[in-house]
Amino acid sequence: MSARLAPTVVDPASRGFFVAAAEGRLAVLTCTRCGGRTHLPRPCCVHCGAHGMEWRDVTPRGRARSWTVVEHQVHPLFPTPYTVVLIDIDDCPGVRMIGYLPGRADLDENTVLHADFEDLGHDPEGNPTVLPRWSAEGAQ
Ligand SMILES: [Zn+2]
Repeated sequence: MSARLAPTVVDPASRGFFVAAAEGRLAVLTCTRCGGRTHLPRPCCVHCGAHGMEWRDVTPRGRARSWTVVEHQVHPLFPTPYTVVLIDIDDCPGVRMIGYLPGRADLDENTVLHADFEDLGHDPEGNPTVLPRWSAEGAQ
């Protein structure tokens, strides 16, 4: 049994995100017409409505914008406490991702977060399952 709850990595809408993560890259869906970034993934650009979208790498670095510490355990694969944080991605104004940090993270609105990647193994079809793993810069 995995020590973490693994996501579905083969959904057509989000597959590019997980393919990039398996290669150690953070990617955001980007419009080939206007260059606008769309996250969460959608079939067309939220800025201009074009359907030409591709996954482009971004620097896995951002700022904590909001967070909460979960103290009540609702699933055995998510032991408490842990911190759920909303991250503004530095390279992509307007793009926010949700991150998970173990424990009671010491965050403020100036906290810089950096992602490396956590290998969760492979899904039953043999696809690599890798997730961004966020941490506060300078944290131990
Ligand atoms: Zn666009």
